This record gives sequence, structure tokens and C-alpha cells, in this order.
Amino acid sequence: MLNKNRLRIAIQKSGRLSQESIKLLTKCGIKINLKQQQLISFSENMPIDVVRVRDDDIPGLVMDQVVDLGIIGKNVIEEESLRRNIDPKKILYTILQRLDFGSCRLSLSIPISQKYINLKSLNNFRIATSYPYLLKKYLDQKKINFNFFILNGSVEVAPSAGLSDAICDLVSTGATLEANGLKEVEVIYSSTACLVSRTGDVSDIKKILINKLMTRIQGVIKARE
Ligand code: ATP
Ligand code: ZN
Repeated sequence: MLNKNRLRIAIQKSGRLSQESIKLLTKCGIKINLKQQQLISFSENMPIDVVRVRDDDIPGLVMDQVVDLGIIGKNVIEEESLRRNIDPKKILYTILQRLDFGSCRLSLSIPISQKYINLKSLNNFRIATSYPYLLKKYLDQKKINFNFFILNGSVEVAPSAGLSDAICDLVSTGATLEANGLKEVEVIYSSTACLVSRTGDVSDIKKILINKLMTRIQGVIKARE
């Protein structure tokens, strides 16, 4: 049975945010003995448990109140929030702190040879993406007609494989796009990793712990600036 007075934090198990997430928690003074295959690790010096999962699972764990906090790309939690079609007034998570890693942008890209004037150049395009809800929100606002299909990997090869006219994918340096003969034409969403909390009642003990953690995180970020 899980101890209700211990704070549970979900982080990515293996991927772009994993090392930085662990580094941040360690710099905050949380001693955790992470074992490779373990889903949950218990801190020895603070009442904090670290849950390590696929990043895609973190928004659900936070919104469904399985964990108290999560470290997750803003892009992933916003996509899940749109997917759940949540009334903006009843939003199920709070961004406590934007973090100084995981910076990227969700962008529309097309083959280098393709002419591009403005967003209207994409009218009636078929777009491959892992982020259909962020894409739809953006293009609907701009009144652009489009079709999409979901690819959760290898999105960048869809145009050269003849599957799509464009892609909507995460970019940080642009090297992957270039290597696949693509050019970035519009940024639709800018993201970083962030510390998110669930909404709803939290015990006073946990509130104190969250505040303590936030102060330490802010201190770590400030020292790195
Ligand atoms: P998992 O196996 O946990 O599902 P994943 O392959 O979906 O991992 P990663 O590629 O590790 O996810 O990316 C995690 C997060 O890192 C992204 O959601 C995004 O917020 C951030 N990120 C930063 N730069 C990039 C980039 N160039 N490409 C993709 N994600 C990036
Ligand atoms: Zn993922």
C-alpha cells in the first residue's frame, strides 16, 4: 500500500528528458537509488517516490491523480489535455515551473523543393504527425483545410516515402529535417520540459513538500543561468 504522505513524481524512464530530470532531482538534494528495471524508487532522505515511465503516460498519471507531480514536455501534456477535450475551466493540471531543458518546437515542414509562400500553401495537404490535436487546433484557427494521419515514429521519412505532403513534428536543431530533405516552414508550438502538478485536494504535508521542492528547483535553475 502506498504511503499517502509521500510525494510521488513521475519522470521519463528512458529518453531525452530522463537524465536531466534525474539530475534536477538529485541537485535538489533528493537521494534516489534508481534501479534499471524498477517502476518506482523511494528516496532515502525525503518522503518522495520517483515513478519512471514512458513520457506519454505521464499526463494521464498526473491528470488521473495517480502521481502528484510530473516532469514532462509541455507539448505532451497539452496534446493529452486537448485529446481529453477538457473544459478549459476544469483543467486537470497546473504548470508549476518551466524547466531549463527539453527545449523544442512543434513545426510544420515540407520537402525543400516545394514552394512555400504562407500557410495557405499547405491547403488540402496530407500531414503526418504524432501531435494531431495541437496540429488541428493551430490549423483550424488559421482556417487551413488539411488531412492528417498519425505516425508515432519515423515521421520525418513520410514525405520521401510518398505517404504525406508535409509533416508536423518536434524540432530542436533542424538537423533531422535537413537530413531528410525537409525545410521548416511554420512553428506551431514552442515547448520545454516542465514540472506539472495535478489539481484537486492535496494534503498540507504534501503542499509543504511541493513548496520546498519548488524553491530548490528554482534555486538550481537560477544557479545554472
Ligand atoms: P518514450 O519512450 O518515453 O515514449 P519518446 O521517444 O516519445 O519517449 P523523446 O524523444 O525522448 O520521447 O522526447 C521526449 C520529449 O523531449 C519530447 O516530448 C519533447 O518535449 C522533448 N524534445 C526536445 N527536443 C526534442 C527533439 N528534437 N525531438 C523530440 N523531442 C524533443
Ligand atoms: Zn513518448
